[in-house]
Amino acid sequence: MTKPAAETMNRAPEPRAGIEAITPYKGGESAIEGQAAPVKLSSNENPLGCSPAARAALIESAERLALYPDGAAAELREALARAHALDVERIACGSGSDELIQILARGYAGPGDEILFSQYGFLSYRLAAMQAGATPVTAPEREYRTDVDAMLAAVTPRTKIVYVANPNNPTGSYLPGAELRRLHAGLRPDILLVIDCAYTEYLDKPDYEDGLALAREDGQDNIVTLRTFSKIYGLAACRIGWCFGPARVIGVINRMRGPFNVNAPALAAAHAALGDADFLAQSKAHNAEGLAFFNAEAERLGVLATPSVGNFVLLRFADAQICQGADAALRAAGLILRGMQPYGLPDCLRASVGLEADNKRVMDVLASFLSAR
Ligand SMILES: *Cc1c(COP(=O)(O)O)cnc(C)c1O
Repeated sequence: MTKPAAETMNRAPEPRAGIEAITPYKGGESAIEGQAAPVKLSSNENPLGCSPAARAALIESAERLALYPDGAAAELREALARAHALDVERIACGSGSDELIQILARGYAGPGDEILFSQYGFLSYRLAAMQAGATPVTAPEREYRTDVDAMLAAVTPRTKIVYVANPNNPTGSYLPGAELRRLHAGLRPDILLVIDCAYTEYLDKPDYEDGLALAREDGQDNIVTLRTFSKIYGLAACRIGWCFGPARVIGVINRMRGPFNVNAPALAAAHAALGDADFLAQSKAHNAEGLAFFNAEAERLGVLATPSVGNFVLLRFADAQICQGADAALRAAGLILRGMQPYGLPDCLRASVGLEADNKRVMDVLASFLSAR
């Protein structure tokens, strides 16, 4: 046996360069010390829960917990293909769309490559870039919106992937279809454009396109559209999302993913949820009311709410200190919103649309906090 060289004797295993520079993702908080039943408005979850059919399917799936799931997710992919008129071979499922974001980064970028997203783009894009060893690059936004010109100006010969959340979290703003197409048209064909449509089901804007149309068109070999069951479908606990993209990209995902990356209860619940149009319509209507309430109340209080089309609003206070005070007042009342420090927005709080009474409490607490100052 050869002895290890003296200089390596007391060393610990070293992770790849850059891994320890990653700030681990922190999910929305769900507990407040001293509060028995706080209201969680920090993770854009569906306040109405999930489809009763999805819940029943998940419970029924417990009969088969000893069995491996279908690693190809064939039934769900076929149902998705039917529902959206897509080629089933161009669909892949993930353990949340977050897993697909990560797989795409690792599959298409590495050290020396750049991954581009907008200034307040979803935090997962930065994490995915760093996990892949690639360099995250951001393009400045204009009034909390993705700026297509700034994005295109930030492209370099090293750019491998562009991530766009449409609409974006946490800003809630969206790119109209024409702008999305202008972004795509301005990218080199060897750059992968990932259009993350986590909130697409909430939208009713005539100028909005969900990315599937663009991705479906012939000759579009560099567009991937992401969707999730975590938001309007109310299945965040299950961790299931999917994507539609070019066959070659789907092939890469299938090579990079774990063999059973989506579990059987999640597949069963998602399949049932897909068929429950009533629950979706109810969730969408509930959300529209909540958004309208938040927007009207924010205006009344003189707090800036970005014009969100998601299931949340971004509230901007006069400064970071007032924002902190507002957060403390909300917490004291048992209401958990999401602080935006990780996005470089210390003057903002993101409020997910909750049940009517909870939305009202948020605005009541903010009103009395702001008037007492
Ligand atoms: C919530 C969210 C997701 C979905 O994440 P899952 O991993 O599917 O739960 C993806 N993108 C954005 C922009 C989101 O806000």
